[in-house]
Amino acid sequence: MNAPVHTAPHTGTVSHWIDGRPVESASGRSGPVYNPATGAEARRVAFASVEEVDTAVAAAKAAYAGWSRTSLARRTTILFRFRELLDAHRDEIAALITAEHGKVHSDALGEIARGMEIVELACGIPAHLKGELSTEVSTRVDVATLRQPLGVVAGITPFNFPAMVPMWMFPVAIACGNTFVLKPSEKDPSASLRLAALLSEAGLPDGVFNVVQGDKPAVDRLLEHPDIAAVSFVGSTPIARYVQLKAVEHGKRVQALGGAKNHMLVLPDADLDLAADQAINAAYGSAGERCMAVSVVVAVGGVGDELVARIAERAKALRIGPGDDPASEMGPLITREHRDKVAAYVAGAAAQGAEVVVDGTGCTVPGHEDGFFTGVSLLDRVPVTADAYREEIFGPVLCVVRARTYEEAVELINSSRWGNGTAIFTRDGGAARRFQLEVEAGMVGVNVPIPVPVGHHSFGGWKDSLFGDLHIYGSDGVAFYTRGKTVTTRWPDPADGGINLGFPSHS
Ligand code: NAD
Repeated sequence: MNAPVHTAPHTGTVSHWIDGRPVESASGRSGPVYNPATGAEARRVAFASVEEVDTAVAAAKAAYAGWSRTSLARRTTILFRFRELLDAHRDEIAALITAEHGKVHSDALGEIARGMEIVELACGIPAHLKGELSTEVSTRVDVATLRQPLGVVAGITPFNFPAMVPMWMFPVAIACGNTFVLKPSEKDPSASLRLAALLSEAGLPDGVFNVVQGDKPAVDRLLEHPDIAAVSFVGSTPIARYVQLKAVEHGKRVQALGGAKNHMLVLPDADLDLAADQAINAAYGSAGERCMAVSVVVAVGGVGDELVARIAERAKALRIGPGDDPASEMGPLITREHRDKVAAYVAGAAAQGAEVVVDGTGCTVPGHEDGFFTGVSLLDRVPVTADAYREEIFGPVLCVVRARTYEEAVELINSSRWGNGTAIFTRDGGAARRFQLEVEAGMVGVNVPIPVPVGHHSFGGWKDSLFGDLHIYGSDGVAFYTRGKTVTTRWPDPADGGINLGFPSHS
């Protein structure tokens, strides 16, 4: 087993992790990593050169032969240990996430808990790799289908869940016998190194899990590299589409999850206090920087005025401040540029006909004047032609649109280019059932605003929210990281001999 290595730097440059150890970059390129609560550059992150990506892939390739033949019992023993280490270090990893992403500590703990669900799924991988067996399909002939790993696989992840989204990928990938190269977001890279160190401490052989820090050149090299068999991507829609096309061009299996604009439909019979609470949690939690955030409430019938009033009352009471302050309910945005872009959407919506009920732009937090803070914004009667409705804002801005009927509301949702998550709030079981069947989205909540599936189901959207065929983690994740092999066996009886050039048929 490798010695535990504490790799989370407080200053300096965040390194790669290759072949079981931290590796300083020699590329000469790096980028800033900010503390969003102060606005200060806290450290730098290395940007890998093509050669450094190649070194990581070579380490993963060298580890593959041994790891893919390592018994399931041994693999799962390591994953169980990793799960225990994650549990023991969850506070420390959450603090790292807060320091670089900005989200409040409780939210960072939540992301680790949801990531651990996938590690737990991976601990049970023998049940998912049982394969299939048909006996006596023909006389003395049995057919078995095995699930085997692909080889070296890559993961490319976004800034908004620096621990959870990598854990949507690598636990299943390595449990299935693949080796892995992760390219985390350059905006909050340190959590990935902590995960790498804990995997090593759990006994994962060197080279099975590697991290290359970087930007576009590192991603492009992974997409082109002949030794990468498959790519999992999570990020914005334009880059997801790019990744899918380029990975396919280079002969790879790919799943590329993109952006979203998630609608929450509220029927007139809904419990309006519950709906208002959930709209607040789902729209403004993590400062709206969640792909499953609710960004549009569709108020049906005459429910709009009362619902908007209740959401506004709650929105104005939210406490905004640094993520490491237990009193804060919402932290800053990821960068200054993003904060300014969010403010521009709010100003633009007003100019394009929306009613600004709560304007959180321009908010400052005493003592943190240079932090990337914004308050929360609530826009009512947003025209569907407004940019704030048509585009993913990825900030704490909730749009409300009004629909006269259920049918009009569903048609609005189904005409969106995205289809990640959606939710209905109602007490009417029949309406909820109809919604499940009629709505065009990959994940549906009934009185649940952020229906992120548990680990043993799979996560994925429809339309421009996912490019590829298989969703991530759960049974789709196992299918993505394995390929089938079908073995037809006969143990001959002497009577089976004889020449017959006809096409084999069953008897
Ligand atoms: P992003 O697309 O900017 O970056 C994602 C990854 O792609 C990063 O690792 C980044 O370094 C890399 N990248 C960025 N530009 C690139 C380029 N031109 N060429 C190659 N690689 C590039 O996304 P982000 O801003 O980090 O994350 C926010 C986005 O992710 C939002 O759109 C959000 O909806 C989406 N997201 C989706 C899901 C989902 O499950 N569907 C989950 C989380 C986040």
